[in-house]
Amino acid sequence: MNIRDFLTVKERREALEKETSISLKNIASSYIDEETASLKNCENMIGTIQVPVGVAGPLLVRSKLQEREVYIPLATTEGALVASVSRGSKAITQSNGATVRSKRIGISRAPVFVVQNLEEAEETITWLDAQIPLIKKVAEKTSSHLSFHSLKHWLVGKNLFVRFVFDTQDAMGMNMVTIAVTEIAKEIEKNTPAKLIAVSGNMCVDKKSNALNVIEGRGIQVWAEVVLPKNIILETLKTSPEKFIEVMQRKVYIGSILSGSIGANSHAANVLSAIFLATGQDIAHVSEAASVVTSAELLENGIYVSVFLPDLPIGTVGGGTNLSTQKEALQILGVSGGDKGKNAEKLAEIVGAAVLAGEISLVASLSTNSLAGAHKKLGRGEK
Ligand code: NAP
Repeated sequence: MNIRDFLTVKERREALEKETSISLKNIASSYIDEETASLKNCENMIGTIQVPVGVAGPLLVRSKLQEREVYIPLATTEGALVASVSRGSKAITQSNGATVRSKRIGISRAPVFVVQNLEEAEETITWLDAQIPLIKKVAEKTSSHLSFHSLKHWLVGKNLFVRFVFDTQDAMGMNMVTIAVTEIAKEIEKNTPAKLIAVSGNMCVDKKSNALNVIEGRGIQVWAEVVLPKNIILETLKTSPEKFIEVMQRKVYIGSILSGSIGANSHAANVLSAIFLATGQDIAHVSEAASVVTSAELLENGIYVSVFLPDLPIGTVGGGTNLSTQKEALQILGVSGGDKGKNAEKLAEIVGAAVLAGEISLVASLSTNSLAGAHKKLGRGEK
């Protein structure tokens, strides 16, 4: 059987059931717009995998772009995650909300070229630096929603890496920039001795945990902070400011240094992957987006907590955001579709505030040693 020979999702699934003698009734019974998904999102599609989605919140988000309470859709199979983000959201909302700021860095693509010696490298770099207007023109011809932002280069032996950064409005943008950089590379090959080896040379850096994106930024950067008064720490988070700060110092700072972690946080990847899955983001980007730095300080009558997300590739159009259930999740957040880049930025800010909520709740739980109990009750359904 060649799985690619079947025309419809149903035919393909039934053929696979016959071939493997396995019933795929659950994969078959969930709803998805098969036409859209099999055309744009998934080859050789046979159905869907179902992941439960819950909502956490309300969470008060206060930024220059928005000031509102939101419910956060989280797709997860980890019992206790939604409850934990809800508890963090409650503490934040009771404390006048999360103050959030964002910065559009842009999405990057960094091809690797080969040159034969330093003279060729010099000639290519001189051309690149002098031809920014041409590079911008070539790139922006490929999409009405893409604008060139900057380029940066690194030479190692015969290998020339050029990292191009673009603004892609409300789209996460990886397809858009790959198309644009492919056109730019043709121009570079036409005008310099450099030869393209790969449109991605791993200095992008796409879908890999890395330090470069933390330093340079990628996608949208987000900062979210809150001051939690002592009474809310005691009543909602069931811990004390001192216990909270001690876990931050010994676990999040020292533990992260000792383990060589990129970023320092308690479980940012948990909240990121659940929102990414619910809202149609590319889930593999969690590998880089999770380089989050969480910090906290003891105040006279409470604590200050903040998260910094240096690298958040995220969008409200394109990719998986076009699928019907993912679109509804974006609608819950009030950011579905395009709005000149504002929707993607609002979504990034909500994600930042939700990560803050997740960090606060988990650190509080660890500080009273209640994590195992919560997972026994909510993750295993034990009394
Ligand atoms: P896309 O679906 O390929 O492109 C987005 C499209 O949306 C653009 O063609 C753009 O139109 C259109 N658009 C309409 N309104 C827009 C608005 N307000 N802002 C921005 N664009 C708007 O999505 P993408 O974000 O570039 O790529 C996402 C996909 O790339 C995901 O499926 C992801 O898994 C995948 N991906 C690809 C690579 C790769 O190397 N190619 C790497 C990682 C991930 P115009 O261009 O006509 O203006």
